[in-house]
Amino acid sequence: MTMKPLIAANWKMHGNMSWRNKPAEFNEILPTAERRHLDVLICPPAVLLAPLADKRGGTDVWLGAQTCHDQVSGAHTGEMSADMLSDAGAEYVILGHSERRAAGETDADVRARVEAAVKAELIPIICVGESLEQREAGQAEGVVEKQLAGSLPDDLTDYVIAYEPVWAIGTGKTATPGDIKSMHAFIRSRVWPTTRILYGGSVKPANAQEILATENVNGALIGGAGLEMESLAEIAKAA
Ligand code: PGA
Repeated sequence: MTMKPLIAANWKMHGNMSWRNKPAEFNEILPTAERRHLDVLICPPAVLLAPLADKRGGTDVWLGAQTCHDQVSGAHTGEMSADMLSDAGAEYVILGHSERRAAGETDADVRARVEAAVKAELIPIICVGESLEQREAGQAEGVVEKQLAGSLPDDLTDYVIAYEPVWAIGTGKTATPGDIKSMHAFIRSRVWPTTRILYGGSVKPANAQEILATENVNGALIGGAGLEMESLAEIAKAA
C-alpha cells in the first residue's frame, strides 16, 4: 500500500522566537513542488506554535504540539488543552513520548490525552517503544503490544504511531534494519492498513534512506536532526 510518508521534527525544549522563520527556511531548501509526495511536520515548544503558524504561509509545513492535557479547560496550572493547541495552529500532537512516559505518564494517561486530541480535531502521534533492558530480555514486542492496547482508544481511526526504541533516542544508536522491519510488521498487524507508522531514534541524513526504505516504515520522528532545516530537508529527500 502506498502511503504519504510523514517526516516529523520534534523540537522538544529547543528554540526561541527567531525560529519562527524555520518553515520558510525549510521551504527554500526543499520547495513544496519537490515534496508533494510527503507531509512535513514541525512540533515546536507550545509557545512557538502561534508565531510559527503566523509565518508559515504557503510553505505547506504542518505544525504539531508535543503533548496536551486530557481536559478541555479548568484548574490545571501550567497545562494546555488540545483545543488551545489547535487554536494556536497545531494540526497534530505527539502523545506518550518516552521522555514523558519516563516522567510518569501511563498508558491510561496517554489514552485520555488521545481522546482529548481527537475531540479537538488534532491527529495524535502515539509513541511506543521498549527500553534496552526490555529488548535484551526478549520483551520488546510484548511491551509495545501492551502500550498499543493501553494507549489507543477502541474507536480510533485517524492517528499515527511512532515506534521509538527508548535506547535509540538521542544516543546515536539506531535499531538494525531487521529489528525495525520486524517491529513495524508487528505494529502493522495491530493497526489499520492505512495507519502511518513512523520510526524514531537517532534518524539523521546518513541513515534516513535505509530506514525509510524499510517495509512498513511510513516516515520518521526526528529529534536532534530536526532542529537544523538542512538536515531535516536531507531526511525528507530520502522519503
Ligand atoms: P532523536 O530523538 O532523533 O534525537 O534520537 C527522537 C525523538 O525523541 O523523537
